[in-house]
Amino acid sequence: MIDLHTHSTASDGTLSPTELVQHAASAGIRHLALTDHDSVSGINEAQAAADQLGIQLIHGLELSVTWSKRTLHIVALNVDIHNVKLNAALTEVLTARQSRAQFMAERLAQHGIEGALEGAQRHAKSTLIGRLHFAKFLVETGHAKDIRQVFKRFLVQGKPGYVSGQWMPLEEGVELIHQAGGIAIIAHPARYKLSRTKLRGLFSEFKALGGNAIEVISGSQSKDENHAMALHALDFDLPASQGSDFHGPEKPWVQLGHMPEMYYRCQPVWQNTEGRLTF
Ligand code: AMP
Ligand code: MN
Ligand code: MN
Ligand code: MN
Repeated sequence: MIDLHTHSTASDGTLSPTELVQHAASAGIRHLALTDHDSVSGINEAQAAADQLGIQLIHGLELSVTWSKRTLHIVALNVDIHNVKLNAALTEVLTARQSRAQFMAERLAQHGIEGALEGAQRHAKSTLIGRLHFAKFLVETGHAKDIRQVFKRFLVQGKPGYVSGQWMPLEEGVELIHQAGGIAIIAHPARYKLSRTKLRGLFSEFKALGGNAIEVISGSQSKDENHAMALHALDFDLPASQGSDFHGPEKPWVQLGHMPEMYYRCQPVWQNTEGRLTF
């Protein structure tokens, strides 16, 4: 069992890195990538737990980037978490996230919702703050019935709590991952709601930049979307990755390692050498 996209409290997941690895081990996962948003701060703790439980931990992150005025997510696997340029860039993203959070709270206050920054920060278990932390605060204070509704009403473009993120351009992100020894994978490509032409433009540009793979199977995509992404991966001759995008046990429809088998015609982004994945 292979899960190459998961979150912990080092970003917007609800399990600590140790709990996540324990949860993965009991779900039968043998190869787990921790891919927190814009952070590798959970990796050391997760590695210690993985060593104890005998599962392979792949060091990763999910980098936020801008492409064609949109936010995209790039899953990076196999990065050197001590890489100096990577850490410097992630520190900048952390700062940008903090100022975005302040703006978000101000916009919500103008809308009559006070205390959002403190409220969101209570849900953030590390220094990294994101929209899901605000979403949890807004649900808890009764501004929406669930997380899905809160995003629709408050946290997406055109809504009162939305402030666009200031991320690095896609090409810079791919380069940053590569120079840290990692591989770059377009996360959940169907989630961006791009037209077919635009999506194909993204894949060809990504490939030209040296991008390594497409996340074909994702807990953030439907079965039909996974299938469509498999066809694109074949078409562009890009290897395929798979990940649950697990954020915590409270979203029961997204469970660790619960994924269909990789499409047999797709080339997996990993090689399995005597029970260890390499990339
Ligand atoms: P951020 O990186 O701070 O902009 O937050 C993005 C995160 O918010 C994603 O990784 C998801 O965890 C969460 N998210 C975004 N859109 C939705 C949605 N419609 N429903 C639930 N969670 C969402
Ligand atoms: Mn998230
Ligand atoms: Mn994502
Ligand atoms: Mn994710």
